[in-house]
Amino acid sequence: MSKPTLEDIVSLAKRRGFIFPSSEIYGGLAGVYDYGPLGVALKHNIQNLWWSSFVTAWDDMYPMDAAILMNKKVWEASGHATGFNDPMVECDNCHSRLRADHVKDSKCPVCGKTDTLSKPKQFNMMFKTQVGAVETVHKVTEEFKDGEWKVKSSEDYTRTDPVIPDFTYLRPETAQGMFVNFKNLLDTVQPDMPFGMAQTGKAFRNEISPRDFLFRLREFDMMEIEYFVHPDKWEEAFEQWRAGMQTFFKKLGLHSVGELDVPEKERAHYSKKTIDFEFDFPFGNAELAGLAYRGDYDLSKHQEATNGDFRYRPKDGSKPFIPHVIEPSFGLDRLVLAILTEAYAEDEQGGEKRTYLKLPAQIAPTKAAVLPLVRTNEDVVNKAREIYENLKNDTGLSVAYDEKHSIGKRYRKQDEIGTPFCITVDFESLEDKRVTIRNRDDLSQRRVSLSDLVDYLSSAT
Ligand code: ATP
Repeated sequence: MSKPTLEDIVSLAKRRGFIFPSSEIYGGLAGVYDYGPLGVALKHNIQNLWWSSFVTAWDDMYPMDAAILMNKKVWEASGHATGFNDPMVECDNCHSRLRADHVKDSKCPVCGKTDTLSKPKQFNMMFKTQVGAVETVHKVTEEFKDGEWKVKSSEDYTRTDPVIPDFTYLRPETAQGMFVNFKNLLDTVQPDMPFGMAQTGKAFRNEISPRDFLFRLREFDMMEIEYFVHPDKWEEAFEQWRAGMQTFFKKLGLHSVGELDVPEKERAHYSKKTIDFEFDFPFGNAELAGLAYRGDYDLSKHQEATNGDFRYRPKDGSKPFIPHVIEPSFGLDRLVLAILTEAYAEDEQGGEKRTYLKLPAQIAPTKAAVLPLVRTNEDVVNKAREIYENLKNDTGLSVAYDEKHSIGKRYRKQDEIGTPFCITVDFESLEDKRVTIRNRDDLSQRRVSLSDLVDYLSSAT
């Protein structure tokens, strides 16, 4: 099948309860989406695979959960307050605001008029948010004139808490939460070099033009690692991470993720080398994840701003140094979109179109569905329920039970949500203690004894 359209994916995601537009009943909010039950499970499974691939599989990886809100000085020191900008143009005719580097010629892509676009200006993408008891005071000054009191001036002004900062930013990346905890980690864990810090969590970017479903969001989830190395060793660590990221994509079923060595003028302000991992989304080839060599930029900036000492002291007594850092950075929502794109498939069964998601079993939201062939026979239904309960308890896997509608409709539903196996319980099962396992992708069916079911599922998922 050719590539699905974005509409195919958005519609399946909504229809089956993976992803909904945020606050939809009020008209939504551009660049923000909510995950429903199956979307949460898919996201959770991807995150677990990231965790087992990059945190528990490594000896020297330390997870962190730094807060979203940080002192605004972090963002001033890191350069984000002045440098985390995208160039913006505004159309004189329709007043659309667009990212200058996404506009190809002098024509406004929204209204189609030519030569109506302004000169680009820098737009900072961080969301500002108030901290503490900030209040707006309405101040009216009166004067006595011509025998009566009249309003002389009226103004609003902001009264801030004199003790704590009046505002900060919602983090646009999780990375800084790790850099500002670097010394805490050195002091408490005393790691050997090289070592990494790992963090997942929400990030916020006030994108000028959010678009393409989960691709360009204003609120999204990141999974990031800061891997600290000796300055002389960055190249081999960079290559190790490049290969490790490709292996991870393959585990997710993404077999053809391209690599773009980003030219210097297009790299982020902190990066000395960057690889963009690119995926062929329904709207074209675009960045899925990034691998950046940030040098000692961040640690040096925080050292300078705090008058601190961010040097690593080698245990063999050799010269202390500020480590350099390699940063593999994944956007979880872009991974979800890529995985749905890759997994989306259609074929024809008995003259009818079938849509299914070829998700790798490890990340499928539901691993198996237990289905009684008929729901009118109490013995078959009871047996199916018993098998379902046992499977859930014995495997700890996410298993579904469904007896509504015809068996054909139930198969279609499980196919569409990417359930790799359907387990059908029929009249014969009551006698021979066997069930039929139907494979989602090739539709093959095999009879499996109940005593082998747990092993079969555990090894297949
Ligand atoms: P882009 O060039 O597409 O704006 P970026 O180079 O700014 O992305 P990074 O700062 O390297 O992105 O962020 C790391 C990862 O976070 C990206 O590879 C992507 O997966 C994810 N990401 C970044 N911005 C967004 C966004 N607005 N919506 C969803 N995911 C995002």
